Amino acid sequence: MHKNIIFILFILIPCSNFFSQTIVSRTNDKVIIAHRGASGYLPEHTMESKAMAYAMHPDFIEQDLVLSKDGVPIVIHDIYLDDITDVAEKFPHKSRDDNRFYVIDFTYKELLQLNVLERYNPKTKEAVFPNRFPYGKSHFNLHSLQDEIELIQGLNKSTGNDVGIYPEIKNPKFHRENGKDISKIVLKILNDYGYTTKSDNCILQCFDAPELKRIRTDLKSELFLVQLIGWKLEEGQLENYQSYADGIGPSIKHIINGFDKNGNVIYSDLVKNAHDLNLIVHAFTFRADQLEGIPSFEKLLELGFIGANVDGIFTDFPDKVSDFLNKNSQ
Ligand code: CA
Repeated sequence: MHKNIIFILFILIPCSNFFSQTIVSRTNDKVIIAHRGASGYLPEHTMESKAMAYAMHPDFIEQDLVLSKDGVPIVIHDIYLDDITDVAEKFPHKSRDDNRFYVIDFTYKELLQLNVLERYNPKTKEAVFPNRFPYGKSHFNLHSLQDEIELIQGLNKSTGNDVGIYPEIKNPKFHRENGKDISKIVLKILNDYGYTTKSDNCILQCFDAPELKRIRTDLKSELFLVQLIGWKLEEGQLENYQSYADGIGPSIKHIINGFDKNGNVIYSDLVKNAHDLNLIVHAFTFRADQLEGIPSFEKLLELGFIGANVDGIFTDFPDKVSDFLNKNSQ
């Protein structure tokens, strides 16, 4: 505790003038993306978590997408079911040889029978984030991309707000190996719901670079595209992304590289290099209960928004980020 206080003072005092002079212009146009909904408070990717996120005034709500056996895009983070549902109890014989249960082996109707649980380790049955929503309590279901778009568009109508969607194409290679073209299916649905150009309130994201390039070139999508980055970039890679994408989505770890021996933050040059190429930067994942050595969530947000100058962040706690931006833009 004592060490943390010293650390906060050390960081804040020399920078306080800098913050007060520049913070207004730097925080007014920052973007909040509700990562898997308000997943810090309710089981991730449930409709309840999306509705709660909506009420926290994010700019976008995220949808990770995996296809069912009958080709319905399900809003779920992994191609597996066994670490967020009770599938092993309901369909004990439907696992593959690796003992895992795959979304793509279940029809949409079967998937709707599952109860969604707070994320846990299937081996130990312990929650990944023990201070979040209690494991196994209440009742939650999986749902389709269409259902979630209708929820968000419905709330946009009833509240008069305009929250966007931020779908992610998950593991296109795995889908192809299982005979399905997930990108084509998702683009068709987005088109049906009015998301076709960069001015529509939708950002499409993917880790698979050849697939995102294909979405722009072969599938001719005019949507705003964000290339996710889960690894260290090689020379010339950013220029390649810029040839088809509008932004990048790096991990915090690719932006904040750590601290020097005096306690000063070491930033990478990724954000500057991306901005030089007119790529926006939306970084993941900002969690109030996973601070990775940073003394507070506020401090982490300062480092991301102000120190590193990212344009937006994916967060499990949209309310806390909204409070931070409101406080710092007055
Ligand atoms: Ca995602």
